[in-house]
Amino acid sequence: MMGVDLEGHSLATGMRSAGWSAPEIQPEPIPVLHPRLPATERLLPYLHRIDATRRYSNHGPLVLEFERRLAEHLRLPAGGLISASSGTAALIGTIIASAGRATPERPLAFMPSFTFVGTASAAEICGYQPYLADVDANTWMLDASRLACHPERDRIGVIVPVAPFGRGVPQAPWVSLRQETGIPVVIDGAASFEAAADAPHRFLGSIPVALSFHATKSFATAEGGGIATTHLDLAKRAAQVLNFGCWGSRNSALPSINGKMSEYHAAVGLAELDAWASKSAALRAVADAYQQCSDQMGLFNRLITMPLIAGCYVLFRCFGMEETTRVKDSLGRKGIDFRLWYGHGLHHQTYLTGVARESLDATEELAPHLLGLPVAPDLSEAAITRVVSSLADGVNGQTS
Ligand SMILES: *Cc1c(COP(=O)(O)O)cnc(C)c1O
Repeated sequence: MMGVDLEGHSLATGMRSAGWSAPEIQPEPIPVLHPRLPATERLLPYLHRIDATRRYSNHGPLVLEFERRLAEHLRLPAGGLISASSGTAALIGTIIASAGRATPERPLAFMPSFTFVGTASAAEICGYQPYLADVDANTWMLDASRLACHPERDRIGVIVPVAPFGRGVPQAPWVSLRQETGIPVVIDGAASFEAAADAPHRFLGSIPVALSFHATKSFATAEGGGIATTHLDLAKRAAQVLNFGCWGSRNSALPSINGKMSEYHAAVGLAELDAWASKSAALRAVADAYQQCSDQMGLFNRLITMPLIAGCYVLFRCFGMEETTRVKDSLGRKGIDFRLWYGHGLHHQTYLTGVARESLDATEELAPHLLGLPVAPDLSEAAITRVVSSLADGVNGQTS
């Protein structure tokens, strides 16, 4: 790679001495994610309301309005959407409300290794030992039918299926499994807001779904999360867990944290909801442009985009380690950032290397080869073309 001086001119000194040549222009780096949350002007009406009421937290009017509007958006009954300070807090509240803390008889939280570390952090803070399971190679999710006769079944205190990259986790198989085994199930649906809104009858129901509204997710409040369920008693209990175990009095009756959403984050959430239709359409347009461009460059069916996954992700599926290395090198040379969003699986995280797990063949095969590509609601067609042509160079073994 050529060096770059402080002005950004390339230091191709050899070329320069051979007469005049146009300065080599290093392309702008493209970040892997460039989130865009509501601009100040759109927040102002909500911020003025906070100034007027001087309510800053503890289920103030903006949080209540945000929960009501979100529940409507997700076609949940009133009270079916509880806000939280983060997706991880939402998971903690949901785990405690559904399963309580771990017991000596049932110490395990059964979860996929193919996920973000937040899934395991939440379960661990509730006293559980994560048990890392493999995913189905096609759905990238836990397979409920494999669990009924799992050797560790009687030691599992809670099952946490994950919506990988926001792919919705269907309720039906988990409702059956819960009925059959009595084991509580909590879905980490952190990035699955769009799936839930598009098909609530499939992806929402009596099994609670924890959502993240982190800045990196499609629908965002900077930090924030929610619990979505039709099980209203469970929702109420989760809200209590997120409020020091208190509800309607100052008596703490449950294991708890402070996991409440503030009025300021609710302001961002309300402004995000106001313009969600256009943000969602913008993410859709980016996904469509990626697909079109990859077809034009002969990379058929290699990009995974919304609506299969959340709009905040565009994934490129590499085949084999050699191709992966070539594609990563090609992106790196062009200043295009990319990410393995779930690393190589949780079992490769330092803190989790020792935890119990089964053989993770599908995870090992999948995780290193699914490259997360740049996404932003306003990512330009030129940038998309640059990314896809760099992918094509990598696939075709072009090294310049
Ligand atoms: C984003 C994410 C989380 C964590 O959510 P936060 O809002 O950052 O706490 C947990 N699990 C998965 C699968 C995620 O994608």
